[in-house]
Amino acid sequence: MTYDSENIFAKILREEIPCDKVYEDDFALAFNDINPQAPVHVLVIPKGEYVSMADFTATASAELIAGFFRAVGQVARDLNLEQPGYRILANAGDDAHQEVPHLHIHIFGGKKLGPMLVR
Ligand code: 5GP
Repeated sequence: MTYDSENIFAKILREEIPCDKVYEDDFALAFNDINPQAPVHVLVIPKGEYVSMADFTATASAELIAGFFRAVGQVARDLNLEQPGYRILANAGDDAHQEVPHLHIHIFGGKKLGPMLVR
């Protein structure tokens, strides 16, 4: 799938539209989801043009891949989610109902999330 540089997260990365930022470094940006599905619902996106996890892991540099996943872990720690726990999720493609075609990891927490799917 070709990257659409006009997708909403590309615009957030370019600071053309605002976000409620919770973390940023050279590799990743994390911000609160506009329509939270749990008391904590943060999105972490890599800095670069990647549609999905498959795209990202096939084409991004090792430095960016490492930095992105470190950022996900850092956000979970910063939000004090290690205890009592949290869930990460990344949708890819139509069957998973991926709405925004820029790789993003959802971090859910702040309540008992139930078995597996959020809803
Ligand atoms: P997906 O279904 O692609 O995995 O998730 C996309 C997520 O992006 C949804 O949870 C949706 O609420 C969130 N989202 C869509 N547009 C915006 C936006 O403009 N700002 C923020 N912060 N979140 C957004």
